[in-house]
Amino acid sequence: MTSISANLQAVRSRIAAACAAAGRDPGQVSLLAVAKTWPAEAVRQAAACGQRAFGENYVQEGVAKAAALADLGLEWHFIGPLQSNKTRPVAETFAWVHSVDRLKLAERLSAQRPAGLPPLQVCVQVNVSGEASKSGCTAEEAPALCRAVAALPNLRLRGLMAIPEPAQESARALRRFGELRALRDRLNEAGLQLDTLSMGMSDDLEDAIMAGATIVRVGTAIFGERQQHF
Ligand SMILES: *Cc1c(COP(=O)(O)O)cnc(C)c1O
Repeated sequence: MTSISANLQAVRSRIAAACAAAGRDPGQVSLLAVAKTWPAEAVRQAAACGQRAFGENYVQEGVAKAAALADLGLEWHFIGPLQSNKTRPVAETFAWVHSVDRLKLAERLSAQRPAGLPPLQVCVQVNVSGEASKSGCTAEEAPALCRAVAALPNLRLRGLMAIPEPAQESARALRRFGELRALRDRLNEAGLQLDTLSMGMSDDLEDAIMAGATIVRVGTAIFGERQQHF
């Protein structure tokens, strides 16, 4: 058994245990394998173990890997910061984008989505409290941005994404994930239909699942410590 295969099994067990602890159906939480900096061959190994959804942070790297692995019919998710002059290859290649944090990006992705493809599945990235990252809209901006994104023809707004700073104690992590969940619930009460919370990574997926995550994005625990990028 390769280490990727063993690691994937271990992550699936963690997800199952976290769902059991949270009283949630494990079918409600899907695993996105984050393959940034890892070669296509590593993705191929994970795919051989039944993993279908893969996350990429860098446009060129993700597009190249998706092309190299086109024979596998995998589902590609773009999860990194996106410059508006790089939306076209993302709209043409990916099934999902988790990192929409401004309307201009969403408008370009919708306009550039090829006619033959299903709508691009989108999460609005929100900068919840305690995040050092510059990415993500504020919680205050989220309602208007979500409504505008939901109205675009070639996008389908699915939910919210966040990358809270790693927290030492689980109580703090739970609070941050809980903020995203509460925002999603408020938006749904206001008439949106958001079924997705993309939150939780290798170190904190249990807390994220406890707080309601429906997609956990896991890299290191599957592929190992990343090589330096560039
Ligand atoms: C790298 C990355 C991940 C995965 O992080 P790990 O700690 O390696 O599991 C998840 N989400 C985003 C947005 C990332 O950039």
